[in-house]
Amino acid sequence: MIALLLAIASSQIQDTAYFQQSVEYRIEASLDEVTSVLSGRARLRYTNRSSRRIDSLYFHLHLNAFRPNSAWARRELQFQNRRFQDLGPDDHAFERLRSVTVAGQSITPLYPGAPDSTVAVVPLTTPLGPGDAITVQLDWDARLSTVPRRQGRRGRHHDFAQWYPKIAVFDRGGWQVQPLLPQGEFYGEFASFDVTLETAADQVLGATGVPVEGDPGWSARRAPGTAEPALHADAYPARAAEPLGLLGAPARDRKRVRWRAENVHHFAWSTSPEYVYEAGAYGDVAVHVLHQRGDTTWNRGVAVQRTVHALAFFDTVFGRFAWPQLTNVHRIEGGGTEFPMMVMNGSAGESLIVHEVGHNYVMGILANNEWKQGWLDEGFASFLGRWYAERRGRDPREIWRNDLENVRAAEAIGATEPIRQASAMFRDFNSYSLMTYTKPALVYRMLRELVGEDAFLRGLRLYYERNALRHVREEDLRAAMEEASGRDLRWFFLQWIHTTATLDYRVGQVSTRQLEDGAWETTVEVLRDGDAWMPVVLRVGDATQRLENREPAQTVRVRTPTRPAEVVLDPDDVLLDLVPANNRAAVPGSSETKPHA
Ligand SMILES: [Zn+2]
Repeated sequence: MIALLLAIASSQIQDTAYFQQSVEYRIEASLDEVTSVLSGRARLRYTNRSSRRIDSLYFHLHLNAFRPNSAWARRELQFQNRRFQDLGPDDHAFERLRSVTVAGQSITPLYPGAPDSTVAVVPLTTPLGPGDAITVQLDWDARLSTVPRRQGRRGRHHDFAQWYPKIAVFDRGGWQVQPLLPQGEFYGEFASFDVTLETAADQVLGATGVPVEGDPGWSARRAPGTAEPALHADAYPARAAEPLGLLGAPARDRKRVRWRAENVHHFAWSTSPEYVYEAGAYGDVAVHVLHQRGDTTWNRGVAVQRTVHALAFFDTVFGRFAWPQLTNVHRIEGGGTEFPMMVMNGSAGESLIVHEVGHNYVMGILANNEWKQGWLDEGFASFLGRWYAERRGRDPREIWRNDLENVRAAEAIGATEPIRQASAMFRDFNSYSLMTYTKPALVYRMLRELVGEDAFLRGLRLYYERNALRHVREEDLRAAMEEASGRDLRWFFLQWIHTTATLDYRVGQVSTRQLEDGAWETTVEVLRDGDAWMPVVLRVGDATQRLENREPAQTVRVRTPTRPAEVVLDPDDVLLDLVPANNRAAVPGSSETKPHA
């Protein structure tokens, strides 16, 4: 009982006002293509902006997921997937801390999840009080895996993601750490990055941030007809690079490019000597596309235009982009992964580009914890992609049909799980995907329908304005939507995000009669099964009416100038209605029809 009371007390203490830690990264790193090993040194300035004392620093070494015996590899064994468990010594990824010093003192890191080593703890000899700052220096070696997963290497092409010791987020709930698993992505602390990368001289590089010194190789690899790159090297106030001493005198066949980025929670980069560069811009945001030689679906401005169109759309949805550039590279792996200021894509498909660019807003700028609330970015980006398709004139029925059918099929056999549960809790990857991408996209669509598109847009702008470059939670989105719409939406989020409640409207008895003035009055019995509720549109002939009644059975009378042939509930198929087939009925001659079973 005392333990329980203490637990309650500590959870109340943890739920303090919003704060964000201050982190500055200075990194030097050099890639050796003979061994495929990148050697790095990071100097981290960490300021405790919380009201709590910090005794240890937690770091993620995410690359250690892509090797035998990691939590990731062991989790995949449960699903007969051995891709990382069986990866040989030359092929698996790793990220090894060689030395850690805190305030000049050497410290041995601990690995609480061993044999998984995606989380490392650095105990502090002197606790970090509120307002205190500390400098940590970490030397490490990193290698990407030959089986790509959101990172990877093939020949001289390297997609570097989650490649440096990444400070974990310390937020209202304390340290946010978990081993990297197949289900669920990342959560990052906003930071400034000043990164010097050394590679072979003929490499072409793309990265989070702007190149401020050295040559990323774009100009020399420009595709015919493309403009000179807009580097935006002056995006941040000039500052000399702090030398860390890792990189010695530069060799003749090597080059160094220094990048800077601020207010980002990850720094990704990619390099290949085969990259071809194409330039674009949306307003003052530079767009850089690096595709591979011979890419006939990316070239001639196609990928550039799609990236620019996506930025233009999100500008109308949320507002101004937060950063000076966006780089879209053709990565090794299929599919796509989002990073701040950067997307790595396996193709130049329009819907993929829109999804990943959308993540620069939902995930990059509005930074949710993807282990706990993946729907806040994955479901959102999925919804935004479909909204974009609607705006491009595609038939909404076509756009949403598969999503509706897939979720209905899972609901019909009771296989859905609450969207809000932690990503690692989902039964398997399919369920995680359906409940993190697909169903939430339908929920966002229902929310847009519920409050109306104008209020929905105002809500999104407000959400963005208040929370840009901050960590976000469900409450932040709900508060903005409630304020913009003037509606209490607790029931909506509770019902759709926290439960697996289903909704099934159906048409019961229908009759119609002609009135003395010649008009027709149709009486419709509207029935609702399941524990979920939504307002529903009833269409009788040419007349539509939105029903806000929450009773499971209601009788509605609708007047029409001519005799209606049919009554339809949810005629635009917007609701996640379990059985849409019982949503319509013909209006009978003069007597009543049989209700649907
Ligand atoms: Zn996504």
